[in-house]
Amino acid sequence: MASQTQVESERAFRQISSVDELLNRPAIRALQESAGRDLVLQSARDALQAIRERLARGADAELTDEAIERDIERRVEAELAPSLVPVINATGVILHTNLGRAPLAREAVDRVAEVAGRYSNLEYDLAEGERGKRDDHTNRLLARLVGAEAALVVNNNAAAVFLSLNTLAEGGEVIVSRGELIEIGGSFRIPDICAKSGAVLREVGTTNRTRIADYAAAINDRTRLLLRVHPSNFRVVGFTERPSLAEFVELGKRHNIAVMEDLGSGCLVDLDAQGLRDEPPAGRSLDAGVQVATFSGDKLLGGPQAGIIAGTREPLQRIRKNPLFRALRVDKMTIAALEATARLYRRGQLDSIPALAMIRASADSIAARAARFKERLAGLPGLTAELEAGESVAGGGSTPGQSLATTLILVHHARLSARQMAGRLRRNRPAVIARVERDRVLLDLRTVLDGGEEEDILQAFQQIVRETA
Ligand SMILES: *Cc1c(COP(=O)(O)O)cnc(C)c1O
Repeated sequence: MASQTQVESERAFRQISSVDELLNRPAIRALQESAGRDLVLQSARDALQAIRERLARGADAELTDEAIERDIERRVEAELAPSLVPVINATGVILHTNLGRAPLAREAVDRVAEVAGRYSNLEYDLAEGERGKRDDHTNRLLARLVGAEAALVVNNNAAAVFLSLNTLAEGGEVIVSRGELIEIGGSFRIPDICAKSGAVLREVGTTNRTRIADYAAAINDRTRLLLRVHPSNFRVVGFTERPSLAEFVELGKRHNIAVMEDLGSGCLVDLDAQGLRDEPPAGRSLDAGVQVATFSGDKLLGGPQAGIIAGTREPLQRIRKNPLFRALRVDKMTIAALEATARLYRRGQLDSIPALAMIRASADSIAARAARFKERLAGLPGLTAELEAGESVAGGGSTPGQSLATTLILVHHARLSARQMAGRLRRNRPAVIARVERDRVLLDLRTVLDGGEEEDILQAFQQIVRETA
């Protein structure tokens, strides 16, 4: 026998409009014009199903046509809203991996837009009228930038390391210092990548000290590669030792074994003046004689996600011929963005590359921006804002333990906790991502782009103030 609730809910359900009736309402008809019949039909069915389930549980449900109509509209809107959206990074972490690492230069964005929606000479030689190589657009340019004989581009640096190891050391041994068996962001671990590449890892030395003699002692007939890995995201301090690049290269030469370096970040310019030391510029490794250097496109280089392999001709040709290269190749949008970014380096326009401009912005310029912005925030009822000296970081697994002096804006709301305020900032469109530390909301304008983002943040706070008045 049906229970009382079941009987009642069935009766209630029979009162509401059918799917067909709903689809014929003028607003829903208009919605079908803009969003398509299938999506609206599905949403109407889902809305009715949700009501049926609520009634069956004995819960309340709004049964008027108007309420159901609003629910259908909400469902359609939610389905069509993009999931990947721009956000404002007010954290001061420049290469924030969760926020998409390097924002692209205007020139790079324009080139992507120009090339992506049309045909292009991606693999077509315009001079000869025949098939070309997608490599041609970037490889010579990148090689020139770092002073290498040759360069290649793949999907990301993890792919670059994997492909290089697989090409150069499959079936043989790779010697790596125990101090460099690193993990980057959970899914990239040197020992795992090495194993998957088919190379046998020969660990030498200790966590804090590895000498050139340790590498030399491990060399045998099966050795294919000497690998050096930049410890991108941590620092070992104190009693440490690592052979110099020159010693490392010299050892490889003596035994006729290739030397490879995973540089991580792909720093193309010297950032010592900005206080970011220890990031090895790619050119330095290649000048020192490393045969293969790999680095990311979207870390300190400030371009799109990509992995760049630069080095001498012979190993690079072998890497290019590896059938796995095809599986790791990049799309035209990446090529367009990387080429445009590389040309900015060629022209010396470093401040046109957002990540570099942020690193190079002086503490004084940030302080002045912060002071002006603080005044605007302080004018909003219920909010107080003050300035505090703080630190920005490069992030994205680079320059560990180093930071850039900045001025933070501390925002306090009379009735909201820092977490509540940060949550409201995140729900703003565009979402504003702030730091929350010791129950305080902190904004670092170093990573807030010029041209509208400050205005958006201000509007987000105005909205919060209105909602909590
Ligand atoms: C970041 C990093 C990687 C991985 O690079 P992705 O471009 O993120 O794939 C590999 N090795 C080192 C040393 C790194 O710092």
